Amino acid sequence: MSKLIPGQLPLSNHAIKDLTKIRIEDSQNLFSQCNEELREIMDQYMQNVTDTEELKPMFQTLSECSEKLGQQERKYNQLGNNLELAKRQYIKESEGNQPVTFDTWNSFVNDSTNIPNLQSLLAEDRSSQLKERSLGQQNLRHVENSKLLRVLPLIWDNPRCIIPDDNDEEDDLMIDGGIIELTCPITCKMYEEPLISNQCGHVFDKSGLQEYFRTERTRDCPQTGCSKHLRINDFIPDPIMKLRCRIAAVKEKEQETKEAEKLDVL
Ligand SMILES: [Zn+2]
Repeated sequence: MSKLIPGQLPLSNHAIKDLTKIRIEDSQNLFSQCNEELREIMDQYMQNVTDTEELKPMFQTLSECSEKLGQQERKYNQLGNNLELAKRQYIKESEGNQPVTFDTWNSFVNDSTNIPNLQSLLAEDRSSQLKERSLGQQNLRHVENSKLLRVLPLIWDNPRCIIPDDNDEEDDLMIDGGIIELTCPITCKMYEEPLISNQCGHVFDKSGLQEYFRTERTRDCPQTGCSKHLRINDFIPDPIMKLRCRIAAVKEKEQETKEAEKLDVL
């Protein structure tokens, strides 16, 4: 008996229209909210720090939660992006297909090889394409929160440690021995409100910068050897430096208490 039913058929124009409407729910807000909550918990811990050893495992857990949340978010975004790409590819590949009618039916029975298959399009590996697409989708605050939570355990161990840059793996090679200064080059005191230049990445305290830019709107970066022309508006808050200073202050205080106790015993 000869075959009467095609292996597969192209979607009708009507169905293609419906296909374009299928989207995964936008959960960016949900992820941001979760991250914000983790950050709030972190801030609360920070405000009530008394015993640094007790806090360490909590910070470790927070950081792990944030990491897992980030993984889920990436997965979710990839799912959505993959769906979009598969839809587009389906529509593009469908362009040459004739509509399904009684007249064209037999041609589909004889040869259905040109008809795109949505299921296999969805399953296609698009890792490289997806990597490019997922960039730049998160808002800045969200990125900042997850980065803070990620670096927390490192800074907790050593507030002056250099953090390897996620975007530049070669930086790993330069970590040995380096430390981050927690004092502002202008005020020569520990940062109170650290601001970072979005032009050159140099950090100064707000009070120092206000003084530095008091007379001229544009000046060379206060960092020795940096020739960037900057305005005070080129500086934005640096939460990581702030975190470093807070943790360093907590640890110093704890050290002082310990030493005072030692003296008492003697
Ligand atoms: Zn600079």
